[in-house]
Amino acid sequence: MANHDYDLIVVGAGSGGVRAARIASELGARVAICEMDRLGGTCVNVGCVPKKLFVYGSHFAHDLVDARGYGWSGEAAFDWPTLLENKNRVIARLNGIYLELLEHAEVDLFRGRAELLDPHTVRIEGAERTATRILIATGGRPLTPDIPGAELALTSNAVFSLPVLPKRMLVVGAGYVALELSSVFCALGVDVTIVHRGEEILRGFDRDLRCHLHDEIEAKGVRILLDTQVKELRKSGSSIEARLDNGEVLETDFPLFAIGRTPNTDGLGLEALGVELGQRGGIVVDEDYTSRVPSIHAVGDVTDRMQLTPVAIAEGMHFAHRFFGKGDFRIDYLNIPTTVFCQPELATVGLTEEEAWHRCPDVRVYRSVFTPLKLTMSERKERTIIKLVVNAEDDRVVGCHMAGHGAAEIIQGLAVAMKAGATKAVFDATIGIHPTSAEEFVILR
Ligand code: NDP
Repeated sequence: MANHDYDLIVVGAGSGGVRAARIASELGARVAICEMDRLGGTCVNVGCVPKKLFVYGSHFAHDLVDARGYGWSGEAAFDWPTLLENKNRVIARLNGIYLELLEHAEVDLFRGRAELLDPHTVRIEGAERTATRILIATGGRPLTPDIPGAELALTSNAVFSLPVLPKRMLVVGAGYVALELSSVFCALGVDVTIVHRGEEILRGFDRDLRCHLHDEIEAKGVRILLDTQVKELRKSGSSIEARLDNGEVLETDFPLFAIGRTPNTDGLGLEALGVELGQRGGIVVDEDYTSRVPSIHAVGDVTDRMQLTPVAIAEGMHFAHRFFGKGDFRIDYLNIPTTVFCQPELATVGLTEEEAWHRCPDVRVYRSVFTPLKLTMSERKERTIIKLVVNAEDDRVVGCHMAGHGAAEIIQGLAVAMKAGATKAVFDATIGIHPTSAEEFVILR
């Protein structure tokens, strides 16, 4: 151990890498981290944080409509450069906080591209440094399809710094990124069309919620084309033409691919060292985040499992405690709650109704669709859906789903109840907070 420069070198200073580096250092390890871009990774720079700020920004369009029903009047104007500028300020502050966190934890930071030369040596901008263990936490990047003209489209990386708000936007895909950004830009007045290859948006989520969201998002003005693919993009004057496989030609200013993300493993020299990569390029690791090479580990999106920031952070913690502490931090991957910040917001934990029917001998389903009290005085007609899925055999709640205002905040709390093994009887015995949307979860009959 003492022969190496460090006990741990982390490659990638995003959510998972920084957490692992800090915890390992606090546990007494000599740690270095390298990063070729801004600190904080996807989440801070081109993901969760700027996205949520855009979501907040776009929500005012709805709030202003609601306000009229409550007696407020007057014009409000939206200024895109102000949103961008203020968002950039917040991100720069977070980049600084990440730097302070690393400095405070006495982690050495090296700027530049890293390449592994052997199972213990990393070359960063020409300088070689060795470590007992190397943790790859390089995250992922948006995919682009292999179609003619693909280079004319942008991905979520560019959306957060668009100099001008487009008039028309074409979004390919109907998962997290596609729906979140479609909702944001639609609320900001952009004419948005979603082109999706599947038979319904949001594959993998509960069917009732998928259909509910389809209707609500369409009602807000987003055009959704299902069972359709973009075959080609072509420049046409100042616009871009998208040729669809149904024969339609769509003119747009801004085609956006939101068709998933791929792990950042290129150029790291992993395969030459015998690190196994999965079919989609993710590093294959065991339950302790160790690759096929015992000194090389990986956490977060680069392993191509659950691409969620809190999961990457938890994996970083597990890794650090496992190899530099007492190994007393473990992750339970069961019932991880998640949200798509589309409008209305979708949040979910546990099994969909369809999954429950496959896994439980009998299932009870409770569902309510309603107009939240706030909107009864607004011209907006957005409806909320909530749904509980219960294993009829033992009364355990196995799935909680919601699409509506505040869904993420509500489902986070219900995820705790589900972790504690709450039954439907426990939900029934809980007194509601009135009047809220959340109380609907405890009065479902
Ligand atoms: P998703 O996997 O969520 O969605 C990808 C979408 O693109 C699906 O609708 C998929 O269709 C479609 N698609 C995939 N390949 C093609 C193709 N070749 N041609 C046309 N359509 C295609 O990916 P995202 O990029 O939206 O997000 C990546 C991940 O990042 C998410 O899975 C999530 O884990 C994470 N994320 C989390 C967020 C959050 O927590 N709020 C926000 C944003 C991202 P089909 O359904 O048919 O496969």
